Amino acid sequence: MARTEPRRAAVVGAGPSGFYAAGQLLAAGFEVDLFDALPTPFGLVRAGVAPDHPKIKTVTRIFDKIAAKDGLRFFGGVIVGRDIAARELAERYHAVVYAFGTAADTRLGIPGEDLPGSHAATAFVGWYNGHPDHAHATYDLTAEHAVVIGNGNVAIDVARMLVLAPEELQPTDTADHALDAFAASSIREVSVVGRRGPAQAAFTTPELLELGELSRADVVVDPDDLHGIPEDAGRNVDILRDYAARTPRADASHRIRLRFFWSPVEIVGDGRVEAIRLARNRIVGGRAVPTGEVQEIACGLVVRSIGYRGTPVEGIPFDDARGLVRNVGGRVVDEDGALVPGTYVTGWVKRGPSGVIGTNKKDSAETTACVVADAEAGVLDGPPVPDAAEVQQWLLSRVPGAVGWDGWSRLDAHEVATGSGAGRPRVKVVHLDAMARIATGADDQAAAGAGS
Ligand code: NAP
Repeated sequence: MARTEPRRAAVVGAGPSGFYAAGQLLAAGFEVDLFDALPTPFGLVRAGVAPDHPKIKTVTRIFDKIAAKDGLRFFGGVIVGRDIAARELAERYHAVVYAFGTAADTRLGIPGEDLPGSHAATAFVGWYNGHPDHAHATYDLTAEHAVVIGNGNVAIDVARMLVLAPEELQPTDTADHALDAFAASSIREVSVVGRRGPAQAAFTTPELLELGELSRADVVVDPDDLHGIPEDAGRNVDILRDYAARTPRADASHRIRLRFFWSPVEIVGDGRVEAIRLARNRIVGGRAVPTGEVQEIACGLVVRSIGYRGTPVEGIPFDDARGLVRNVGGRVVDEDGALVPGTYVTGWVKRGPSGVIGTNKKDSAETTACVVADAEAGVLDGPPVPDAAEVQQWLLSRVPGAVGWDGWSRLDAHEVATGSGAGRPRVKVVHLDAMARIATGADDQAAAGAGS
């Protein structure tokens, strides 16, 4: 195995933090192989950002430019920990940057959490966004009342998606199966439940304002929840005061009710969700403390949106309590705090699920600065690593179906073309086998064969 120049890095996870890290490493003179578990790039920009927020998704233009640079290769559909081992990557690259995000959900830890009809937001969001791991799921939207637990932007996204009108969803890239389900939905009211108060909610202002402008849904806030909150408690509280003062519109068929100071204590039902039991809180020193009052509200769907956690990958030190890869400023460390040379982490699985897409640029800059400093200090000069061609040969022997950027571009063009006829940005292909056929051009060849 001949030592190659320039140095070579693997970035595992082609979401925002992975793309920013890849771009920064290319700029620092590294060759970069960018891996993703899916045949598609962009992580949560494709599978997390709400379909009715297309502007946020235009960040992919920046990622496209990074992907087009010399020195970058994409390998989609490769799962580290299943198809290849972390150790095998460490042997083949000077540096490996993990950027695989936080795909699992934080648990409430209450009775009834796993009753049919109670779902993690991670799964529900993945479902309406056509993530292949969630595309087979079905959601029962036949109840009138849904409850979303949590006071973050994901809770707002979920609540909004549940009340948007079919004609508002139709021109989006919402997965077809979800468009059909939302169009047939009986849900009329969505309660968004926060354990703390209006002043502590994690909503960002534009997202909270958007709730007040929905075409067919009123937003309802109990004025009592705002009593005692100081005048200058911030923009969110001002907006919530405005909502609390509103009178219901005669033409609103749907409603989003923001319920503050309630902690879920049990999800109740005989074989499926029928109600949720909530305990009233007051805020003491910023923390929610139960008052002893309990209320049960009838509902047929519960979506738990209380944060995300990383999923451990064998061979990468993991902090189970926090759901993150163990690290110091992006350098991976083991349980004893000793550095794992050449191994780095960035994005949500480094710092936790916080911030907006752009936050990852700065986060990755911190990590890639460590990579560059370590390269200069000679930390990455271990045994020689194979060259790009050798690595590709090894990889394709292990994952023959790995999808390159050309394969993704074929799938992308297919989705965009299918969408353009329907006035949609794209129609997502949601099953892995169909993705593979389109990415490899097998469908085109079959069509050409049929025509000849
Ligand atoms: P988040 O902003 O951290 O909100 C999590 C919420 O869950 C908080 O209200 C938290 O309440 C609550 N919670 C946690 N544990 C709980 C428990 N045991 N019982 C009841 N409630 C509990 O997380 P997120 O909504 O998943 O969003 C993740 C990140 O993505 C955020 O940075 C968000 O801004 C970003 N994002 C942005 C957009 C956008 O810009 N449009 C859209 C989606 C997501 P406490 O505060 O009391 O802990």
